[in-house]
Amino acid sequence: MRDLVVQVMDSRLSALLSQWRQAETVEGDPAAYFAAHADHLLVIETEGGANRYAHYGRAFTACFGQDLTGQVIDLLPADILPADRRFMLEFEYGFVRRTGRPLWRSYTALFGQDLPQTWQRLVLPAGNGRLVVGAYPVDVPPPAQGGEALLHLVIDRVPVVLAEDGGIEDLALSLGAFCDTSRHMAELEELASRDSLTQTANRRHFEHLAGLELDHARRMGRSFALLALDIDHFKRINDTWGHAAGDEALKAFANACRLSLREYDILGRIGGEEFAVALPNTGPDGARVIAERLRAAVEELVVRPAKGELFDLTVSIGIAQLREGDLTVETMLERADQALYRAKNSGRNRVMAEE
Ligand code: GH3
Ligand code: MG
Ligand code: MG
Repeated sequence: MRDLVVQVMDSRLSALLSQWRQAETVEGDPAAYFAAHADHLLVIETEGGANRYAHYGRAFTACFGQDLTGQVIDLLPADILPADRRFMLEFEYGFVRRTGRPLWRSYTALFGQDLPQTWQRLVLPAGNGRLVVGAYPVDVPPPAQGGEALLHLVIDRVPVVLAEDGGIEDLALSLGAFCDTSRHMAELEELASRDSLTQTANRRHFEHLAGLELDHARRMGRSFALLALDIDHFKRINDTWGHAAGDEALKAFANACRLSLREYDILGRIGGEEFAVALPNTGPDGARVIAERLRAAVEELVVRPAKGELFDLTVSIGIAQLREGDLTVETMLERADQALYRAKNSGRNRVMAEE
């Protein structure tokens, strides 16, 4: 068991662990204590039940694009730390505080660039609610042979409580919980992805987010509207100005939409030049106002491609309103699409509500 941990654990983390073990007491500033590892070291403190970053390593800053020192972990924007990983962190930090035992975890997730990366994390108790967390992206070692392969897989996914000798004392999750959690996490990670060109939610993510709002609206008896948007004659834009300019038009279009929407509206790219907007708390009149504002903003838009001439574009929009029998976003999108189809047929660059 011990050999397996040694074999799989990132060497920088094993170094941290042995330093931690050698210290009689862990006092003073843990960041200074682990100064040799400051690049990837986090120090986390509890304040009023929330976990706050007390120190945020340089490499984290580089990875996440901002220094989060002082920020509360459960208040982080979702694109920095998706809900599932916040949940796991809460669980693991609580576990270490409760047991006073070090915990190690390996996890594979999408970090920003849409490329799966494996990270390993070591959580060490440092007294007074302080935790020192070292985390590093690692190269995954080749899977072990035979019966070891399963064990290898498990310790590569389940939070491991470390024993005095550096081996495995316990697993912080039961295997059943692990199976559920990993399936759940895989789903959430897929859902969390964004369209890389326009930085809007992709179709799955949009349907997930809009679905949450739809459920909420149904439960609370609130209004909820959905818009389907399709850029007019986009093929012609590509043919006239080139595909690269078409891409720039898509980016400019998404930005113009974002600027015209409220903070809690949800914008997603659901097809090539097809977008959708979910409008929580919005009835038919409000939806028409917003759709009209979007349409006008796009009409005003001038696309300035890096190469080539300026050009403009228009959009057609269909509106669907939440009805009694609407259980999914898909059903509403179908109706919004029918309205959109009529907007196209009656001349484009216009807004139509469902009949
Ligand atoms: P309509 O007004 O009826 O919507 O006409 P349209 O030309 O927009 O209709 P259609 O849906 O037939 O064409 C969409 C075009 O969008 C075809 C496709 O080449 C282009 N397109 C889809 N995705 C992208 C993309 O990511 N980049 C670029 N540049 N073009 C794309
Ligand atoms: Mg289309
Ligand atoms: Mg189109």
